[in-house]
Amino acid sequence: MDTKALHTISYGLYVVTAKNGDRLNGQIANTVFQISAAPPTIAISLNKQNLTNEFIQASKQFAVSVLAKEAPLSLIGQFGFKSGREVDKFAGIAYKLSPAGLPYITDNTLAYLEAEVNQVVDAGTHNIFIGSLINAEVLRQGEPMTYAYYHQVKRGTTPKTAPTFIEPAKTTGGSKAAKYQCSICGYLYDPAEGNPNKGIPQGTPFEELPDDWTCPVCGAGKDVFEKVD
Ligand code: FE
Repeated sequence: MDTKALHTISYGLYVVTAKNGDRLNGQIANTVFQISAAPPTIAISLNKQNLTNEFIQASKQFAVSVLAKEAPLSLIGQFGFKSGREVDKFAGIAYKLSPAGLPYITDNTLAYLEAEVNQVVDAGTHNIFIGSLINAEVLRQGEPMTYAYYHQVKRGTTPKTAPTFIEPAKTTGGSKAAKYQCSICGYLYDPAEGNPNKGIPQGTPFEELPDDWTCPVCGAGKDVFEKVD
């Protein structure tokens, strides 16, 4: 069996949000899909460990913000690699509340959808929430972010709790131009690419990054990076 076949499946990239009482939370998900048209019904698959899963189990509602291609890694890092149990995911994020009171992202978002859960399917590590659409709005025109674009062009990474996570290979030795991976979020620093968004030119070895350089995805310091093959 060649599990690489799974990599040929295409996905989008979304922020799934929920509330529980006064508390708001959200997380990045690539598994959002419309499953029927009349009535419009959508489904999402979320890891059982995630706080958003817990909130949806309790409130039976969720919202989806459809990210635009321009969405920055920092936004994806905020919702994808931090836990709502430790940080306020919405700190510093532009958002509004839907008619049902669920948060949706207003920057770098093409549309939002809101659903009332009518079925929860136990899928082992994940729950699939199936819900009827109760609100939806197009916020602006643009191209949606795809999972492939996030990985290939934006050099994004996958958290361990995602359905599509694959363990990276590690190595101990290596040349000066080795790649380094963030042990918090999995972001891979490739010297050949540098980090132009933070003023780091192509060809800069990891060792020559400034001491105050931080992971462009999760914001962790250089000290948590590990050399990889
Ligand atoms: Fe990181």
